[in-house]
Amino acid sequence: MKSPDFAERIAHLRKEYNLTQSELGKQLGVTNRAVSKWENGISNPQIELIYKMCKMYGKDLDYFFEGTEVFVPDEEKKKKSMPTIREIYKIGRGPSSSHTMGPEKASLIFKERYPDCDRYKAVLYGSLARTGKGHMTDFSIIETMRPKKCEVEFDYTASDLPHPNTLDIIGYKNGMEVGRLKFLSVGGGQIKIEGEALKENENLYPHHSFEEIKKYCEENEILLWQYVERIEGKEIYDFVLSVWKQMQKTIKSGISKTGVIPGRLGVQKKANHLYNQHHIDETNETRENRMVASFAFAVGEENACGETIVTAPTCGASGVLPAVMYYYKKKRDFSDEDIVHALETAALIGNLVKTNASISGAECGCQAEIGTACAMASAALAELLGMSLSQIEYAAEIAIEHHLGLTCDPIYGLVQIPCIERNAVAAMRAINAVNLANFLTDTRKISFDLVVDTMYETGKDLSKHYKETAEGGLSKLYK
Ligand code: SF4
Repeated sequence: MKSPDFAERIAHLRKEYNLTQSELGKQLGVTNRAVSKWENGISNPQIELIYKMCKMYGKDLDYFFEGTEVFVPDEEKKKKSMPTIREIYKIGRGPSSSHTMGPEKASLIFKERYPDCDRYKAVLYGSLARTGKGHMTDFSIIETMRPKKCEVEFDYTASDLPHPNTLDIIGYKNGMEVGRLKFLSVGGGQIKIEGEALKENENLYPHHSFEEIKKYCEENEILLWQYVERIEGKEIYDFVLSVWKQMQKTIKSGISKTGVIPGRLGVQKKANHLYNQHHIDETNETRENRMVASFAFAVGEENACGETIVTAPTCGASGVLPAVMYYYKKKRDFSDEDIVHALETAALIGNLVKTNASISGAECGCQAEIGTACAMASAALAELLGMSLSQIEYAAEIAIEHHLGLTCDPIYGLVQIPCIERNAVAAMRAINAVNLANFLTDTRKISFDLVVDTMYETGKDLSKHYKETAEGGLSKLYK
């Protein structure tokens, strides 16, 4: 692949606008030496600066990248829709939002549209076929279709799917096919029906990037949670409060249990052990890590057992955000109102990732699930601690940046290894991201929007073996 010739194009741009290296550098916020290095081919400008140049000088990206193969964010996807945050937080049973909640919702819709069928058939494709057994997709569909019979087929061969999590549901009456719908389980329990337009409330938000939202908030002197309530209406508060109540319930339930998680891995539950064990000379830092991890394990274990959890943004990654919120509520005695506001901010972050990239492990790997959960937890904590908009953005950006490339390879397709422990690690990382953002925001170079685009690009480039197919990584090597 040919690399972009920034040297020639930046020199050309300067000439066209009659600028010295120093003048161009000043406009971009870099030194004349940096511009000189670009023009001599010693280094390349950051993508953010290229976007800036395009904006300032009325160029499109082709001016810099013509003849090269580079990733350009999918504008269609970027502007498609930004739905209510209710789509981020779904209360339901685990273990997987895309593999159990989504197909369950699809089955309910189909049943409602074709109530007179005497039997149904579901055909699972892509990741749904490959890890559907481990995630109990077939069980979830059959149970939802009861008392009618439903047969579930796994098609491992289909290619050119509209989404890695695709399923067909077909209804029959007296041996004749009477209805057929293709569903896409796009992550977080949300489904789309092929060929059907978005509903009105699926494009609730007028802004689709953090940059736009930040600008609006600054102009209107409001915080991110106030922005959410302005768009969604005050009633969103009660919804998020119910989400918070369920999150706490799940943690308390998970902490109280011991034993083995169902499934052929024989994984021991560890939340209770982590919560109750401590060394006599335990430091405050170790205690913090142990507590946060125990809360994340509690949710992950409940999820793996098919108990009730809240997607945040998915089932597999549902432990990160509640663990951080629960720990800080206890540590600093924050009110439920404070936590609800933080959760509103977190949901906005999850919503932006879902709109502009993906929260689906099957589509973009675990960076899309755990990475997003970590960003949501970081933003929530930064909001809770009263940090600025830029600090909140930076905390969320750090969280995703350092999950880039994270693969999804659950052993036997069960949402257990690496998923449960990964929630704990991400919860601890979210706290670290906030600590860093507290000190380093002024020096940052990467925006939240840019890292989200990068995550999407990285996810698209990931081999399918690392996207919830149980065909690579730990899944492949574990015997
Ligand atoms: S590895 Fe990550 S993305 Fe994959 S199922 Fe587990 S938590 Fe979800």
